[in-house]
Amino acid sequence: MPELPEVEITRRSLVRWMEGRRVDRVEVPDPAAIRSTRSTLPSDAHPDGVAAVRARVEGGRLVEARRHGKRLGLRFDAGDLLVHLGMTGRFTRGPADRFVRVCLHLDDGSAVRFVDSRRFGCLVPTDDLDADLAEGLGPDVLLAPPDARGLGERLRGRRSVKAALMDQAVVAGLGNIHAVEALWRARLHPDLPCDRLGPADLVALAGAIALQVRWAVDLEDGEEVAYVTEGAPNPFTVYGRAGGPCPRCGALVERTTGSGRATYACRGCQRA
Ligand SMILES: [Zn+2]
Repeated sequence: MPELPEVEITRRSLVRWMEGRRVDRVEVPDPAAIRSTRSTLPSDAHPDGVAAVRARVEGGRLVEARRHGKRLGLRFDAGDLLVHLGMTGRFTRGPADRFVRVCLHLDDGSAVRFVDSRRFGCLVPTDDLDADLAEGLGPDVLLAPPDARGLGERLRGRRSVKAALMDQAVVAGLGNIHAVEALWRARLHPDLPCDRLGPADLVALAGAIALQVRWAVDLEDGEEVAYVTEGAPNPFTVYGRAGGPCPRCGALVERTTGSGRATYACRGCQRA
């Protein structure tokens, strides 16, 4: 599932590919990819989605591409689209395949395709991009990295710090991988309850989140997202390294699962 860095790279790529180019034609091989609301279900297809996208996009230019958490907002001359990549959605200039859902043909003869094999992703025509982009989300961890005080106000109660960090209403943009890595950086065990975080923990965690997200975005600065490619080397410190030594203290990294997601942590140096 794409996390913030992949969505941010997608945003930057779209700006680079489409800058100064007019969209001549929108081709929609899969009208169900255009939805009325943020929905993962093709059955929530926008009843007039193809026309709604064409009216906003055809004959115009991409004015701005914005991101909040894992949501993307595309502002064209004549209207806006909200984009969700879902599980497998991505934009590409590569050759067409059977998973192309929407294709933007540009005036230089190139094409930008929205490709999505699992079909959880969607484009949503919107008349209020600002509201739709941020609705229900906490502050974006890259655009507005939380400080210790802000985190202290947001991480509350008995639930685990990892669960809270992955709750997009608490902070927007952290998924499983980067939550695991940020907690290792902060020397905090993912299972630690929020109400046991002290002031020094919050300072460490705020710094770790900011570092982790910047590191990941820099790592992925290219059209392809290196670590999600099959067979690519694992660039992470503890994620995906169960049974290996913790690079900080040498204890073995443990893998556990909770709510269907794998967690990796070191009991030697991450306080539980
Ligand atoms: Zn350790």
